[in-house]
Amino acid sequence: MNVHPLPPSAFKGEGLTSQRARDRLARLLKEAGIRNPDVVEAIRTIPRHHFIDQALHSRAYENTALPIGHGQTISQPWVVARMTEALLEFGMPQKVLEIGTGSGYQAVVLATLVPQVYTVERIEELLRQARRRFRQLGLANIRSRHDDGKLGWADEGPFDAIILTAAGDAIPTPILDQLTPTGVLVAPVGSPSSQTLVRLRGDGEGDFIQEELGAVSFVPLLGGIG
Ligand code: SAH
Repeated sequence: MNVHPLPPSAFKGEGLTSQRARDRLARLLKEAGIRNPDVVEAIRTIPRHHFIDQALHSRAYENTALPIGHGQTISQPWVVARMTEALLEFGMPQKVLEIGTGSGYQAVVLATLVPQVYTVERIEELLRQARRRFRQLGLANIRSRHDDGKLGWADEGPFDAIILTAAGDAIPTPILDQLTPTGVLVAPVGSPSSQTLVRLRGDGEGDFIQEELGAVSFVPLLGGIG
């Protein structure tokens, strides 16, 4: 069950084609190994076309990353689903931190599934647009911040789940420090040409259990604010 179902206004003006396209995407995700039915349902119901430029609306429900301006991309739906599922696998986190708000799509997927989402973006204009989308969708459980996400969000931590949607060659220490002792972190790690999706789980004693979840391709985690 979704914790925060979207209000009926989120579905206004959707034609049959769009609903069909979403159903098709949901089927594809299941066929491609996504097992958490709540995650599939979140992606089926969230209007991904709200998160991209009108010129790309006809491609909104394809399983592909798309440009969102400023050289950034909205992630491929399968990757969003896989990362979300990996983050929720050991139980329901209460507070989730996302680094790299981008379009706001991943934050909204999370916000329909968990009680509270915190998201940090370094490009002010992208954050402004994402905030408008959060308001339009009536989601009150997302807090967002314009900052260098390599610093995490110290004032609001610790978080029992953290997701990075941009890739660095390592996970910044301030972010690791903001994970609860048994928290879960999912992040792409590596160089621009070769990245692996990594999951860390705190063992409760200050160490992490690390797993590699496969190859991915993300925009780079940059420093400073844009
Ligand atoms: N989660 C996003 C994916 C956006 S792409 C979505 O669903 O659309 C990754 C985003 O990370 C970009 O918007 C980029 O500006 C941002 N980013 C890169 N480095 C960052 C940093 N150090 N702090 C915060 N955001 C960062």
